[in-house]
Amino acid sequence: MNLILFGPPAAGKGTQAKRLVEQRGMVQLSTGDMLRAAIASKSELGLKVEGIMQRGELVSDEIVIALIEERLPEAEAAGGAIFDGFPRTLAQAEALDKMLAGRGAKIDLVVRLKVDDAALMERIAGRFAESGRADDNPESFKVRLEAYNKQTAPLLPYYQAKLVEVDGMGPIDTVAQAIDQALDAPRG
Ligand code: AMP
Repeated sequence: MNLILFGPPAAGKGTQAKRLVEQRGMVQLSTGDMLRAAIASKSELGLKVEGIMQRGELVSDEIVIALIEERLPEAEAAGGAIFDGFPRTLAQAEALDKMLAGRGAKIDLVVRLKVDDAALMERIAGRFAESGRADDNPESFKVRLEAYNKQTAPLLPYYQAKLVEVDGMGPIDTVAQAIDQALDAPRG
């Protein structure tokens, strides 16, 4: 079972992914987490992406595709991955399909967490102070939201056949229930 959690920054993708890891033993593949780990370890990759991430821009397709590819065997062994924050461009989506097909696998479900921009701004504003993330500030968040609207949201038609929309505005438990329902629904 391979799931993509799709949605704008601060929509709750990470929170829901972590819950699914605990409850279903799936593996969370978050390119954002991988890139932050690279920055923390001061690796060559970390140095390369630090400024880009801090500004809220997308790092190159090549970098994130390679990060995901490295982790696919582990996800496969666990019985499935939750892709969190990947893919964010059409090139990434196509590369993911190709990599999975090469392993005899595919994306089974795409859950889109819908949250409107005003609600997002409110959510993130409350998070700026305590987050510790270099890109949780008004300027970078605006760029992240723009990147989502311009580069990532246009991906939705690509996943139309696998797409389930969930209202991401409600309490965490309600969103979790809706995601569980989508996961447990029979699929063709
Ligand atoms: P996230 O934790 O998913 O919000 O990602 C934080 C930042 O990491 C983004 O604003 C981008 O700079 C970078 N990033 C994470 N995933 C990707 C991706 N799939 N493609 C390009 N950049 C990414």
